[in-house]
Amino acid sequence: MNLCSVLNCCLKAPIGILNISYCGKGIHSIEISQILGIAALTFDGALQKFSSDKVLMECVQWLKLYFDSEFEAVKKSFPSICPTIFASKGKFTACVWKTLASKVPPGETVSYGALAALCGNEGAGRAVGTAMATNPIPLVVPCHRVIRSDGTLGQYSRGKKNDIKEWLLAHEGAIHS
Ligand SMILES: [Zn+2]
Repeated sequence: MNLCSVLNCCLKAPIGILNISYCGKGIHSIEISQILGIAALTFDGALQKFSSDKVLMECVQWLKLYFDSEFEAVKKSFPSICPTIFASKGKFTACVWKTLASKVPPGETVSYGALAALCGNEGAGRAVGTAMATNPIPLVVPCHRVIRSDGTLGQYSRGKKNDIKEWLLAHEGAIHS
């Protein structure tokens, strides 16, 4: 496996600073940080500054559409993800991430158990929980749309960012806050 040469870009988003890591093949991670003082670009600033960087542009444009509530456009396009990310965690986790990203659009939610069933292992709700907790690419792999079967929201980022989960679901119209 070739090692990737990874770059970074920090963006100002309504939920905090998004630290995007990416290589020439796709995104590696998006970290949501609420630490003030990180130098971050606006979406438009990043689009200007990195206009020749195809992978990052694709991702920034997609995120901009998402936060602008252009959900129809969000459903039609998809930022590239570096294949090494899927290869790193085993088949079930890769299936969970890919299925969630492709089958659960903005405005919809899925339970941990239902997502496990979509990946052929109905009883693996707990493994889905682990896959969500270790998801390196929140928003693109929309782990915030995975909720408990009783309708309660469950955790986000191991419970440390539950308010962001609620904000995102309300933003998409999946819940009323
Ligand atoms: Zn890579």
